[in-house]
Amino acid sequence: MSEWPEIETYRALLSPLISGLSIEGTTVNREKSINESAEEFGSGLSGRKILFVERRGKHLIFHLDDGNRLLINLMAGDWIYYGREGEKPDGEYALILELEDGNRIFFGGLRHGYAYRISAKKLIEFLRPLGPDPFDPRLSADSFGVRLRTKRSKLKSALVDPKFISGIGNAYADEILFEAELRPDSVIAAMSGDEMRKVYDSMRKVLEEAARSGGAIAVRFSAEDMLTGGYRDSFKVYERAGEACARCGGTIVLETVSNRKSYYCPSCQK
Ligand SMILES: [Zn+2]
Repeated sequence: MSEWPEIETYRALLSPLISGLSIEGTTVNREKSINESAEEFGSGLSGRKILFVERRGKHLIFHLDDGNRLLINLMAGDWIYYGREGEKPDGEYALILELEDGNRIFFGGLRHGYAYRISAKKLIEFLRPLGPDPFDPRLSADSFGVRLRTKRSKLKSALVDPKFISGIGNAYADEILFEAELRPDSVIAAMSGDEMRKVYDSMRKVLEEAARSGGAIAVRFSAEDMLTGGYRDSFKVYERAGEACARCGGTIVLETVSNRKSYYCPSCQK
């Protein structure tokens, strides 16, 4: 799973470790995961200093000292490991960046995810269609409600639509709706202002708590890492079909809402 809390966890862990360091070498094991030939990609990154690491929605962005960016988009099953060659967990690594201090950043999987080296201008174009970050300071409860009112879909579909809000996928959408006590198939046009505010508050609460616990990434981030994946057992409805609801004792169900698997408690989510 790679949603807002997982990517925020990676940003928070990586940023202090790699900011200010140069990339000394690049190993590309899966050319389909990048946007250039392995040679161009490697020579473009070689010697470049990573100024800082930013997150936008569920995208991780390395700002490089030549004005270019390394845009990382992790999908389900992808992971990042940081450390020495000999200590990395088993698995297929599509891309490895060697840093000047001897540590490496290993990108595992990247079968659907990718790492693109692009210009700052291209990045702006790439990000333009995306909706605001859930924690965008300009995204108030009121402006969230105004945006939500424009959607003609069911509530769950809006939450997982990156053009509406970026960073929320299937798992955390279900958790947010459970927190808000609203069904995934709620019709937005019929929702009250109070219900919309509840979705907004629940969104920030659930994502913040999950990020603080290290998200739900299955693979640890480094040899010393004790944080990553700490939220894995904290999901209240996601992948808990048939289990008792922690809030009301009802039975959690799995249903398809707008072509998406949705876990919820029909007894207390109205
Ligand atoms: Zn319940």
